[in-house]
Amino acid sequence: MAHKYVYFFGGGKADGNAQMKNLLGGKGANIAEMTNLGIPVPPGFTITTEICTYYYQNNQQYPPELKGQVEDALRRLEEMMGRKFGDPDNPLLVSVRSGAASSMPGMMDTVLNLGLNDQTVLGLMKETRDERFAYDCYRRFVAMYGDVVLGLKPVHKDEMDPFDQIIEEMRKRRKVEFDSELPASDLKELVERYKTLIRAHKDVVFPQDPMEQLWGAIGAVFGSWNNPRAIAYRELNNIPSDMGTAVNIQAMVFGNMGEDCGTGVGFTRNPATGENVFYGEYLINAQGEDVVAGIRTPQPINKAQKTDPNTLSLEETMPEIYQQLERVRTTLDRHYRDMQDIEFTIQKGKLWMLQTRTGKRTGFASFKIAVDMVREGIISKDEALMRVDPDQLNQLLRPIFDPRAKEEAVRNKALLAKGLNAGPGAATGRVVFNAPDAEEWAKRGEKVILVRLETSPEDIRGMHASQGILTARGGMTSHAALVGRQMGKVCVVGCNALEIEYRNHRMMVGDRIVREGDWLSLDGTTGEVFVGQIPTQPSEVLSVIIDKKMDSAKSQVYQDYMELLGWADECRRLGVWTNADQPNQVEVALAFGAEGIGLTRTEHMFFEGNRIDAVREMILADDVEGRKRALAKLLPMQKEDFKGIFRVMKGKPVTIRTLDPPLHEFLPHEDKDIQKLATEMLVHVERLKAKVESLHEANPMLGHRGCRLGIVYPEITAMQAQAIMEAACEVKKEGVDVQPEIMIPLVGHVSELKNQRKVVDDVAREVMERYGVSVNYRVGTMIEVPRGALTADEIAEVAEFFSFGTNDLTQTVFGISRDDAGKFLPDYLDARIWEYDPFEKLDQVGVGGLMEIAVKKGRATRPDLKIGICGEHGGEPSSVDFCHRIGLDYVSCSPYRVPVARLAAAQAAIRSKNKC
Ligand code: ADP
Ligand code: MG
Ligand code: MG
Repeated sequence: MAHKYVYFFGGGKADGNAQMKNLLGGKGANIAEMTNLGIPVPPGFTITTEICTYYYQNNQQYPPELKGQVEDALRRLEEMMGRKFGDPDNPLLVSVRSGAASSMPGMMDTVLNLGLNDQTVLGLMKETRDERFAYDCYRRFVAMYGDVVLGLKPVHKDEMDPFDQIIEEMRKRRKVEFDSELPASDLKELVERYKTLIRAHKDVVFPQDPMEQLWGAIGAVFGSWNNPRAIAYRELNNIPSDMGTAVNIQAMVFGNMGEDCGTGVGFTRNPATGENVFYGEYLINAQGEDVVAGIRTPQPINKAQKTDPNTLSLEETMPEIYQQLERVRTTLDRHYRDMQDIEFTIQKGKLWMLQTRTGKRTGFASFKIAVDMVREGIISKDEALMRVDPDQLNQLLRPIFDPRAKEEAVRNKALLAKGLNAGPGAATGRVVFNAPDAEEWAKRGEKVILVRLETSPEDIRGMHASQGILTARGGMTSHAALVGRQMGKVCVVGCNALEIEYRNHRMMVGDRIVREGDWLSLDGTTGEVFVGQIPTQPSEVLSVIIDKKMDSAKSQVYQDYMELLGWADECRRLGVWTNADQPNQVEVALAFGAEGIGLTRTEHMFFEGNRIDAVREMILADDVEGRKRALAKLLPMQKEDFKGIFRVMKGKPVTIRTLDPPLHEFLPHEDKDIQKLATEMLVHVERLKAKVESLHEANPMLGHRGCRLGIVYPEITAMQAQAIMEAACEVKKEGVDVQPEIMIPLVGHVSELKNQRKVVDDVAREVMERYGVSVNYRVGTMIEVPRGALTADEIAEVAEFFSFGTNDLTQTVFGISRDDAGKFLPDYLDARIWEYDPFEKLDQVGVGGLMEIAVKKGRATRPDLKIGICGEHGGEPSSVDFCHRIGLDYVSCSPYRVPVARLAAAQAAIRSKNKC
């Protein structure tokens, strides 16, 4: 038997199913699944993704078997529909739809009403006795074919689509607002003008032969796999480019046959908030893309969603269809066990489903849906945890506008207009009117708000570069809303009051003018658009947890957040600690669920108030005695800091690193600053200059820093150890448990650690005796240079714990300085020499390989060695996963990453559980 390239669906049965996404694409596989579920789907067939691969490998040719298989399927479809493709009396019309394995909404091309020509249009007209309808289909088809297959597009970024331009002219001539108000004669004229336009610009005649149309459209769909916007989309979303798209050929159903027809899109739950309510939009007497294209602002699907009493929801206009759709909604939501994004069309009072896929959602919604579905018994806790993208969690913490500043803005009449609240959050930026400008401005470091009539897939890079997106047209399911939501952008759509003039780079609302470069503030939670900049404040979750300004019982978001993170804590094995230097930071981290401090950078405390004076005095001292005198001034201050932290941590481990940075960082370098300091410190300018000079290093990152400081100046380590131990003893006497972990940085040789450990132990013994208190302290080291990792077995004889300093370890393993990497890193990433920035995401092979060695060797010496990570990577999900796999005890990250790390750690545990 020949290889099967074509999969049929229709009449309640399909060759494929939802599992076959790689072969049939997401759209084709789900259409097959819906067919098998008995949901009404127009019949048709899917050409597999294998053909796409073949097409690109064979100079845009198809395997010889394909033609026959397509013709057979087409015949079967004709029989099922009782119509014939190209028949002038009873024509079968089809759509030709793209659909890859990973959904790429709107990125590739689709052609509707294919099979129409000058003859078949007459057949359609006779059959339906509706000239207007027949020519409405035909003009749409010619425009889509001209755009998608023949490639007739706008030439300049400020230009309108050439087909739209003509139809707009017609609307103006008739003085009507919508295409649906144009009479049949105009639509007929449109067809001819479109054909002429195609001939003039593309030097081809619009093909009349349906078979030629079909193969043209099939080729265009395969070709669209590699169009620039599809490539850009795949890059942004990390979708592999070698899978290819499938092509779906499906009998047309018509939503544009009159007032008892329509088309719509919906979500089985609200994609912005996650609420379990049916959410969607529809248009009466419309076809396909009309709803998402934002040509008319669609109407809400049900009463619950209505904001304007003058619009009519589907629930009101077609109650029976609405009830049927509600049932389909529940079936799909439960069958797929996830929120679905659906497309439907109503033809003469009959409902047809055209698509279902897992819907894109905001971080808020993702969270809420996961939690609700566990409560509803649809999914397990593990599944819920795996569904929330840890990075999306940050959306819950995203700022909102300061309500008082907003009220004031309203009073000052800064409220420009109101649209639909498609992407929650607050954004402020300067207005640009097209995507390339957004990209360009953002590159210069400007914050921009992208304002468009509607967005299209071409705009995604510009959308990505913007703080917020504002459109004049389109609904909650428009392209802007969909993509904005997925990117987590603040987004307001369907703001009808805006009159945008692309060419003049400005927009008008009544008599107000907003020009390119003006400031705009978008409230994506309410849909309000303000001129000017409005200050922001913390989100609801933060208001409960951190500011304690909101009652937890009043915040559903907070409760959902706590519940999901509670489940995460139940199943993760990794501890989640934080990097924090001050009691207030520590409190934030604790509120987020931190279980310890993995890194306190003592030098950060040196810059507080007038401490820097004592630090400088210490640096400038000529001898040990002088240094000791200066250090004695620092001692009580450091001690107070540590006491503050110990009190807040109440017995949780606190890892304190001894002084790490090179000393020159504490001295000024500019002449006039040196002058000033010399006067203040009563030293000679020349002497100060000489000191600065002597501390100068060619490569400070590899210079006199880390434990090398403490070895040359043991009194520094001694002072710090004393401050830590006295603080510990005093707090313990107050009745609060303490667990200090003293961490020596940049150790590459066991002797370095031995040296510093002795200093610490001597001081500790003395302090504990003096206070008559025993404190359970530990001494450990950072592993952040390769020799440290490679000799971890020796180092573990002295160290009671390890903490991977993966920032320095990445620098030293790669042999690059992070401060200088900016000169070549962007080129490396562009040229794909590196897939990602190793300072953001842990290099698991190189740096990680060394970590694995260190873990193994360290634990060979000391089986109960506690090991963590305190580099930036400790809060990055893929790095957290790696830390889980190599058996670390905890990750430590900045306070605001703690929730992300808790979830990532849970996912890591679930992943490894599912593997074995
Ligand atoms: P996209 O992937 O961009 O969503 P689709 O293939 O889903 O493109 O098609 C675009 C629009 O055309 C959708 O609104 C869809 O519902 C509509 N459409 C596609 N096929 C048909 C059909 N056979 N009958 C009626 N409408 C259709
Ligand atoms: Mg679609
Ligand atoms: Mg370091």
